[in-house]
Amino acid sequence: MTRRIVVLPGDGIGPEVVVAARQVLDAVSSRFGFRLAYEEQLIGGAAIDEAGEPLPDATIEACKNADAILLGAVGGPRWDDPKARHRPEQGLLGIRRALGLYANLRPVRPYAALAAASPLKSDRLAGVNILFVRELTGGIYFGQPRFTEDTRDGGRRAVDTCEYTDGEIRRIVRLAFKIAAKRRGKLTSVDKANVLATSRLWRKVVDEVAVEHRGVIVEHRLVDSTAMRLVTDPGDFDVVVTENMFGDILSDEAAVFVGSLGLLPSASLGDGGPGMYEPIHGSAPDIAGMGIANPVGTILSAAMLLRHSLDREEAAVAIEDAVTAAIEGGARTKDLGGDLSTQGMTERVLEALENT
Ligand code: NAD
Repeated sequence: MTRRIVVLPGDGIGPEVVVAARQVLDAVSSRFGFRLAYEEQLIGGAAIDEAGEPLPDATIEACKNADAILLGAVGGPRWDDPKARHRPEQGLLGIRRALGLYANLRPVRPYAALAAASPLKSDRLAGVNILFVRELTGGIYFGQPRFTEDTRDGGRRAVDTCEYTDGEIRRIVRLAFKIAAKRRGKLTSVDKANVLATSRLWRKVVDEVAVEHRGVIVEHRLVDSTAMRLVTDPGDFDVVVTENMFGDILSDEAAVFVGSLGLLPSASLGDGGPGMYEPIHGSAPDIAGMGIANPVGTILSAAMLLRHSLDREEAAVAIEDAVTAAIEGGARTKDLGGDLSTQGMTERVLEALENT
């Protein structure tokens, strides 16, 4: 059976890193004997230029009918006019909404050979392998009402609302338990239950779901002490599940362990439908078109695509091992202090793939 992948190159370095990931996907599909068919569609600034809107209907339709989606990045100074009716990031938010992608997965696994590039001491980083599972469609980023208004005393007042239902919490927590059961069997749930009602509900639902997954050890942690523990003892974490804003902040904090934005992948998943896979970095307009972007974040996103949407764990591990071997073997793009081009780095990963 041929599996269908919609490719959304997007803007800036997006098209450059997506080409690299496709080469690696092609290599593992022929090695492990499965077929992939790609369909390119428009998103972001490129879609505004060609179709007049950041998320054309044809893109939504193709994504809904795909097995998985691989995205580069969207945005850039060209489309940065705050008064513009259409903005590139509307494409990203729109496709997440259209596909019901409520779970954002961000693995953070530093490489021993790059320990010097991290601000943390290398002995703290040994063996660190954390997976953040962040709720993506609820919480304070989406709650209503939200407004700014003038007050009677001549000042101003702004309001954001944080809201979660037990159903929204249960679905992401269930997913996090399932993933933790396949890893080292430890789940850290992060909240602010000493202060927030949404966090108290979050904690209650986690305890209810825990009954269904007795093999997983669960711990509840407050977000403030978690922020501290992440840098003092990052090896203590396996899977971390948390609400939207806490996940946004903590996963960015942990991203610095790895040494470059260009190395980190992500997945956004919903229930049943296609997942979307993309590097965590943006469109990097400062280096776009120069052929020097680090393709590893997108290559590792392709590995996540194989694992979570196509059930090809073996091929996913082969890609991850090949990336590790290439980096341990000294392959470095400019962001890592080397001089390999995007294509040069991709070739080092492909070579490692052949030799593992
Ligand atoms: P950015 O991630 O694009 O770039 C930050 C810095 O990291 C830049 O110096 C860039 O050159 C470098 N960098 C990023 N990825 C790299 C890679 N693969 N290899 C080597 N170096 C890399 O963030 P930014 O500059 O804040 O944003 C630029 C544009 O991207 C903006 O329009 C922003 O809205 C957009 N953006 C998009 C996404 C997305 O599509 N998911 C995410 C973040 C930002």
